Amino acid sequence: MIKLNSVVTMHYELKDASGEVLDSSKGQDPLVYLHGAGNIIVGLEEQLLGKTVGDTVDAVVAPEKGYGMPVDALVQTVPKEAFGEEIDKVEVGMRFQAETEQGPVPVVVTGMDDTTVTVDGNHPLAGKELHFHVSIAEIRDATAEEVEHKHVHGPGGHQH
Ligand code: ZN
Repeated sequence: MIKLNSVVTMHYELKDASGEVLDSSKGQDPLVYLHGAGNIIVGLEEQLLGKTVGDTVDAVVAPEKGYGMPVDALVQTVPKEAFGEEIDKVEVGMRFQAETEQGPVPVVVTGMDDTTVTVDGNHPLAGKELHFHVSIAEIRDATAEEVEHKHVHGPGGHQH
């Protein structure tokens, strides 16, 4: 049964409210996570507590317990000069790491005009209701080292 400090192996599919598949482990290695360590979004983690091997779980997660709501302050308009010579490569839809005072932040270019570029640092899934379909494949207790590191070691986890 999944509890604090369980290492859980699961297959999953993530859809948005309209049924579009956003992410899936289908055809890939299953996801392995350490329960209670914030490895996966909190709204899904809460709904997996107490489940056992062989269970399938349909979990609907509100944005507040998913990737949060979009924040206007993360949308910024930057002068084209700030990009230097790289401006020739910039186009709407491009993703890159922006250097900020808080460190690098992934952003997407959402608009351009003659003099400025608009970039959005919100998570692409911010504001979205998440629909997970999960099947639990394996559960084991974490090692003391995994608990200390707050992540899983070995297959599907950190190799170090
Ligand atoms: Zn580690």
